[in-house]
Amino acid sequence: MTVLVKPQKLDDLKVREFRMLIDGKWVEGVETGTIERIAPSHGVTVSRYAAGTKDDANRAIAAARNAFDNGPWPRMTASERSGILLKAADLISARADELAHLDAIEAGKPITQVRGEIAGAVDIWRYAAALARDLHGESYNTLGEGTMGVVLREAIGVVSIITPWNFPFLIVSQKLPFALAAGCTAVVKPSELTSGSTLVLGEILIEAGVPAGVVNILAGTGADVGAPMTSHPDVDMISFTGSTQIGRLTMANAAQTLKKVSLELGGKNPQIVFPDANLEEFVDAAVFGAYFNAGECCNAGSRLILHRDIASDVTARIAALSEKVKVGDPLDPTTQVGAIITPQHLKKIQGYVSGAAQDGATVAHGGSQIDFGMGQFMTPTILSGVKPEMAVAREEVFGPVLSVLTFETTEEAIRIANSIDYGLSAGVWSSDFDTCMTIGRKVRAGTVWMNTFMDGASELPFGGYQQSGLGRELGRHAVEDYTETKTLNMHIGRRTGWWMPR
Ligand code: NAD
Repeated sequence: MTVLVKPQKLDDLKVREFRMLIDGKWVEGVETGTIERIAPSHGVTVSRYAAGTKDDANRAIAAARNAFDNGPWPRMTASERSGILLKAADLISARADELAHLDAIEAGKPITQVRGEIAGAVDIWRYAAALARDLHGESYNTLGEGTMGVVLREAIGVVSIITPWNFPFLIVSQKLPFALAAGCTAVVKPSELTSGSTLVLGEILIEAGVPAGVVNILAGTGADVGAPMTSHPDVDMISFTGSTQIGRLTMANAAQTLKKVSLELGGKNPQIVFPDANLEEFVDAAVFGAYFNAGECCNAGSRLILHRDIASDVTARIAALSEKVKVGDPLDPTTQVGAIITPQHLKKIQGYVSGAAQDGATVAHGGSQIDFGMGQFMTPTILSGVKPEMAVAREEVFGPVLSVLTFETTEEAIRIANSIDYGLSAGVWSSDFDTCMTIGRKVRAGTVWMNTFMDGASELPFGGYQQSGLGRELGRHAVEDYTETKTLNMHIGRRTGWWMPR
């Protein structure tokens, strides 16, 4: 059983229409195509975006290049840039309901959850504004009488920002304010499935005082808009969040002109649980970690690695709690799990569940589609008896599906955790300090949570090991990522050299 929240009809729905922001103006594309967004929860069109093409991407890149080479943004004081970012944060906060509604209806995410994401985004914009004023280089006055060195941090230039559909507003907010804080200009392409809130951000930035051409935003497919943004010679850096597959392609495209690349990619994150853990707290975190955002989350705790002695008891407790999870209408404030992003993606998730059963796993809970007569939804699902070599234990399912594996020794748990290509995040649960620290140091992941899961803060760097990505977002170095380092090597006094008399 699952607690169902049937979606209510969208009686007073007004379809939102969006154009693209290029060089400070809202324009149609070179071609007049549109992308229709059908709400994954209600099955009706909720947004229409002007569909960008390669020509539009080129126009946007030209505007960003011109704004960087000739415009005021990189030349302003950090204090001025910081002030504009703070104003943007205030305006995001003022339009939080509108932004939350757009992400909820376009992505099928629960409204209460998205409100938290928008509040988190506001905090990130404020944090980036603070970091803008602390961006500085280094000086070396220790190189001898005749030498002094100054290391400058300069904005890297034009940044292509490409984002996925699962956290539309939060993820653009993990990138753009830091690029802007450094003095960069940007072309932003949100996912073609969830572009609305990022386009509203364009309105906010203009109102906040960001000059024309500094931020250009266009909806469009990866092939039409994303690919040109990763190969154009006038782009200096790419900041990409999405699948590992497209991340690889992005890096290959960028290699032609040797752009700097920052990649936030997929995950298959283990939670290792020892018998001495607070199991009540863990069971709650396991359910949250697996089903939050319908499991469509790079950080999903989709791989439980339970000590053999507690595995069957803990699995039963997780199954019991899974029954209480409220699934359905993303606009209902009590909903905890919303819709699956597209019908094709639902099929893919179900393929993983049936594939796991064929491989010998047991569907211990859920596993089925929920039929509300509209949209696409799935029950929270638990697979037990999963072995480390099965596809469902190694690949990103990106749905509300939890795989349960078991271990006997700490070494075995670490071996299983590290046996896959991903390394985004991990969790360890134990009341023993040594156990937590041993796992924390030996698991190859960008974040390791100890006796908690999926916490975070703007101050804490986030990113992946191995094929989960390259580079880190957030944290105090996030602005530096969008800079080049320049050495000024200075001579003081008379210089002696090859032919100069000593
Ligand atoms: P995706 O890779 O299909 O698409 C991501 C973005 O890339 C979209 O805007 C898409 O239009 C664009 N794109 C597609 N083809 C492209 C191309 N050839 N060139 C340039 N851009 C192209 O990913 P998705 O399905 O939107 O998102 C889900 C994936 O994102 C999952 O794998 C998830 O783990 C990952 N993700 C990672 C993080 C993280 O921080 N590590 C956060 C959220 C999501």
